[in-house]
Amino acid sequence: MKIVVCIKQVPDTKGGVQFNPDGTLNRGAMLAIMNPDDKAGLEAALKLKDEYDAEVTVLTMGLPKASDVLREALAMGADRGILLTDRALGGSDTWATSTAIAGAIRNLTYDLIITGRQAIDGDTAQVGPQISEHLGIPVISYAQDIKIEGDSVLVERQYEDRHHLIKAKMPCLLTALSELNQPRYMTPGGIFDACEAEIETWGRADLKDVDDANLGLKGSPTKIARASDKVRKGAGEMVNLETEEAVTYIMGRLKEKHII
Ligand code: FAD
Repeated sequence: MKIVVCIKQVPDTKGGVQFNPDGTLNRGAMLAIMNPDDKAGLEAALKLKDEYDAEVTVLTMGLPKASDVLREALAMGADRGILLTDRALGGSDTWATSTAIAGAIRNLTYDLIITGRQAIDGDTAQVGPQISEHLGIPVISYAQDIKIEGDSVLVERQYEDRHHLIKAKMPCLLTALSELNQPRYMTPGGIFDACEAEIETWGRADLKDVDDANLGLKGSPTKIARASDKVRKGAGEMVNLETEEAVTYIMGRLKEKHII
């Protein structure tokens, strides 16, 4: 079994988001980490490696320093790391990102592709499903539990207030939630090996069946009009009720929105 895990290096947004004066993210001012959903996806792949002797390839697209997350993944137990980096890919939106990643994956053999549900910086949750569209394979999003049954994958999918149990023939793409598992720590031996391991560096020339018109800033249909870290608050709602009625009302509204 062969598994490709897409991992993104993201700024750690726990300490707040820093912007440049032009509205773009000031990535240099924030610590760079492996996107949490991707780490859970990697752990799921490593569990399948433990169980079925699967081969796990990790792939990231980004600046050369994104190789740090690949080394972290190798230290956790991944077998192969591929860094996709090229000036031609700079300024990519989700469409251009997924086009490039799919172009890279076309060079690999795989039964499963695992991405995170969502990156904590871009937050769109589009890249995983878009990769599956480009490759013409099924996608199961929001995976909470993953089992292999012959040539199929059985996935428990989180869906607001319920779960779906979905079976799909492999090859298939899954998007993982950080709630999926508790990612393992890197081992000291793994860290030493990962420091010396070769990270393959791929560029534009390595992308298969991809048109230049769909890459980089020029190939990105999305434009950022404005960015801000100010969260706008709605006007709110005032109700004038007795205590018991107020409690019933609030409980009803919270249930309506699936918060409780
Ligand atoms: P999501 O769709 O939320 O991610 C879902 C999953 O897809 C992730 O969990 C991960 O598994 C996988 N994934 C996503 N991105 C990658 C990746 N790069 N490598 C491997 N796996 C991945 N960002 C920049 O860093 N540099 C730029 O120059 C830049 N320019 C932009 C220009 C425009 C006009 C726009 C709109 C965006 C730009 N971005 C840039 C942001 C960039 O488009 C997104 O970060 C990227 O497309 C991923 O989207 P997302 O973060 O919403 O990921």
